[in-house]
Amino acid sequence: MTGAVFTWPDGAAAAVALTVDVDGPAGVTGSLGATERDLSAISEAEYGLTRGLPRILAILNEHSIPATCYVPGETARRYPDVIRQIIDAGHEVGHHGNRHLSPARIDEAAQYAEIEEGLQALHEAGAPRPAGYRAPDWQLTAHTFALLGEFGFTYDSSLMGDDRPYIASYGGTSLLELPVHWTLDDWPFFGWTPDYGWPHAAPGMVQQIWAEELCSAITEHRLVTFTMHPEITGRPSRLTVLRNLITTAKDANLWFATHSQVANHVKGQLHDPDLRFRASQSRRPRLPVRDRPARAGSPHDGNLHKAA
Ligand SMILES: [Zn+2]
Repeated sequence: MTGAVFTWPDGAAAAVALTVDVDGPAGVTGSLGATERDLSAISEAEYGLTRGLPRILAILNEHSIPATCYVPGETARRYPDVIRQIIDAGHEVGHHGNRHLSPARIDEAAQYAEIEEGLQALHEAGAPRPAGYRAPDWQLTAHTFALLGEFGFTYDSSLMGDDRPYIASYGGTSLLELPVHWTLDDWPFFGWTPDYGWPHAAPGMVQQIWAEELCSAITEHRLVTFTMHPEITGRPSRLTVLRNLITTAKDANLWFATHSQVANHVKGQLHDPDLRFRASQSRRPRLPVRDRPARAGSPHDGNLHKAA
């Protein structure tokens, strides 16, 4: 095995970051091309705020698990109570653009505005200055990456260059990356609109895939980040996936942490010369047999249009 291997608090074999992209209607108007006239699309996004998010927060509260919620500025501006719910429950708020515009689809001036106006909106909604950023649609550009450095962000969570924390470097800017992946996101499995998306997956299939990812993270002593959307995982049938994921991770005594907590923990270790040595000492995970997943199949064929 190559790459960094980390140690985690209290001897945990791996770290688990549960992240929730609280897009709100900005998610469909910013990325998916829906207009405010499309009441069905807007209402599904609102369902995520009024019903889905409280359900997810209740489960996290039940298990005393901290999460990181990435919120576009426009959502914070229109629904400040959502920010209050997240903060009052002890979770981290991360930057997720302003109008949820994909950096790769807008010019440099608009990318700047997305960062600056998103920061302003989160501030006005009462959120602490965010330490982390996640690009809408996970379409980060070198320009926005450079802006993250200029605005003093501690970490990014939009890239897929590794499956553990790493230092990403582009054009003279280096930043801690807490990587993501489509298979660890609920949208490719369950998201659907008249224009995008694929047949809804069975929750059990996603549960198997995510349990397999947990098992691998334990083997390699790494972080695994899961991404959820309130309007998707907040539907009753999908909450089972979250509940079972938490049960499996708790049975294995893994470390649940916000992205900021992970960032603070791994920063020193990324420069530790002993990382390579520790990589040779990895052990197989000790998950209960009942939690070991069956081999999972491929979720979908084709492109994944919107997921973050
Ligand atoms: Zn998003």
